[in-house]
Amino acid sequence: MAKHEFQTEVGQLLKLMTHSLYSNKEIFVRELVSNCSDAIDKLEYLKLTDDKLKGYETTPAINIKIDEEDNSITIADNGIGMNEEDLIASIGTIAKSGTKSFVEALSGDAKKDSNLIGQFGVGFYSVFMVADSVDVISKKAGEDQAYKWSSDGTGSFDLSPCVKEDAGTVIYIKMKEEEISEFVNKSRIETIVKKYSNHIPFPIFLNYKEEVTEELSEEEMAKDEKDRKTPETTIENKREQANEATALWSQPKARLKADDYNEFYKTISHDSNEPMAYVHTKAEGVSEYTTLFYIPQTAPMDMYRVDFQPGVKLYVKRVFITDDEKELLPTYLRFVKGIIDSEDLPLNVSREILQENKVMANIKQSSVKKVLSEIKKLSKDEEKYKEFTEQYNRPLKEGVYQDHVNKDAILELVRYKSTNDKDAMTSLAAYKDRANTEQKAIFYIVGDDERVLRNSPLMESYKKNNIEVLILDDKEIDEVITPAIGQYKDWDMKDITSCEAPATEQTEEQAKEVEAEFKSIVEKIKETLGEAVSDVKTTDRLSDSPSCVVKDPNDPMAQMAAMMKSMGQEMPESAPILEINPDHAIVKSLNGCPDDSMVDTISWLLLDQAKMAEGLEIKDPVAFTQRLNTVMAKAF
Ligand code: ADP
Repeated sequence: MAKHEFQTEVGQLLKLMTHSLYSNKEIFVRELVSNCSDAIDKLEYLKLTDDKLKGYETTPAINIKIDEEDNSITIADNGIGMNEEDLIASIGTIAKSGTKSFVEALSGDAKKDSNLIGQFGVGFYSVFMVADSVDVISKKAGEDQAYKWSSDGTGSFDLSPCVKEDAGTVIYIKMKEEEISEFVNKSRIETIVKKYSNHIPFPIFLNYKEEVTEELSEEEMAKDEKDRKTPETTIENKREQANEATALWSQPKARLKADDYNEFYKTISHDSNEPMAYVHTKAEGVSEYTTLFYIPQTAPMDMYRVDFQPGVKLYVKRVFITDDEKELLPTYLRFVKGIIDSEDLPLNVSREILQENKVMANIKQSSVKKVLSEIKKLSKDEEKYKEFTEQYNRPLKEGVYQDHVNKDAILELVRYKSTNDKDAMTSLAAYKDRANTEQKAIFYIVGDDERVLRNSPLMESYKKNNIEVLILDDKEIDEVITPAIGQYKDWDMKDITSCEAPATEQTEEQAKEVEAEFKSIVEKIKETLGEAVSDVKTTDRLSDSPSCVVKDPNDPMAQMAAMMKSMGQEMPESAPILEINPDHAIVKSLNGCPDDSMVDTISWLLLDQAKMAEGLEIKDPVAFTQRLNTVMAKAF
């Protein structure tokens, strides 16, 4: 027998399981049964596709034995089974990088934390919430040697060869003293199975012992009590199917209730919350398939990881094919959980076939439309949609960029912060409705910090002219995606840092006068700032601030930089245009200032403060501070 240490993260996790996560312990049944079901799914698939296992005969079943004498529960399946390496890799280490984040994501709130179990694929270990010790006896289909894995959930596990006749896995759980009364109980386990695993497509049998008392015949009963024979009591082994064992999605919608859908969601998602929404569709005609999609209440923890676990499982005629195909839905819908079951795909579809298959492409296309229209339905309820937006606005924004076919539909679903209402997000449609029809553009500003954006000097002229501006403060994504929108309906999307300010009352003549008046100081500033600016101009877009910086919309380098950025490449920012406010006291005094060194200092300060006010980085903070000190010293 070989002793193995658990990988550090497993050790940590097990400690948490046994010491902190005490609420909702019953889910261990769901997690283990769901593993059994996955294992049977895998074997069923191989029986049809793998030459070595063709003709292999089993009748899929999951058996749960409740043993009141031994105070144990045994959960057994005749699925694919595990060999020695599988046992070490699957339940000795944490293969998935997500589990480390699971441990990090734990909040200390037992209820919340136990909801996280499973989202990270740590379902098996939940058994240690109730177990004193666990034996996993398993034999892999097509192999000869069986193995036994045992552990009490503290630090290490033992692994040794053993004897087991049929392929599959038996999990023997010796209950903790304090859990016996609750869980070593047939009706309790039956309730849990019905609750979480009713629609697992394989039968789950409960095996238990029951005292059976002999029924007396009518003749005996007719006798006087004292003459009656004493009825005999025997212990009988019983077996009873606890679940319906029909794939939920294959049943007609009319037979299913919200509760059925919600509980099924919990079994496939490992989430203990109810879903936010679901949509069940049966398509008939050219291509025949069923889909059942769920939107979780909270976004999956791995939504922003490259190695996210896809939420949709593919079945062909009720046979499980894969749960590891990221392309069943486009990646921007990776938060959707559910099932696609096709009647037309071949059972031995490979990944390559899937990606090029017309049937699959058609299913994918209509699935996206279904999910989007479900989201649209959600959007009719403002409160509900607020919750949706909090979770999924960002992936939807990715969709605008990724999905050209559905771009218009997605644009209706994305929400933005705006100057219209500090506390509510707006749709583009609502923005357009509110705007003056002469406006013919949707204005936006992009950056990291909402407060900085709202107070940017560039906002001043829009505020003055009562023009709404969208505040896009998720810079990483907004910067790439918003330019890709181009137009909403027939309105251009305009970045206020690179477009002309809204028209003012100033006439062309007046503008020319101002330009002439400030010509020499503008040139001086330009000379002083050199390559740090691409141009210096007077502007009438500012009211309170002395200066601002804008991007030159016609600068080919700036366009190039934006394009490179959208492809994930960094490009040095090109120099901005500095615009100065001729009505501002500082700029007025600067114009005609005889002190050249002061003009130099103030020119740099005008540039740096404009950048800072717009949330941009300044090149030389030390020089900035020195200049500021010079001016402060002068002020006294
Ligand atoms: P998950 O099921 O989310 O992957 P678990 O911790 O529940 O995470 O299980 C880890 C792995 O152990 C599974 O992915 C599977 O490979 C293996 N496993 C667990 N239970 C069984 C079983 N009954 N039969 C075969 N393999 C199993």
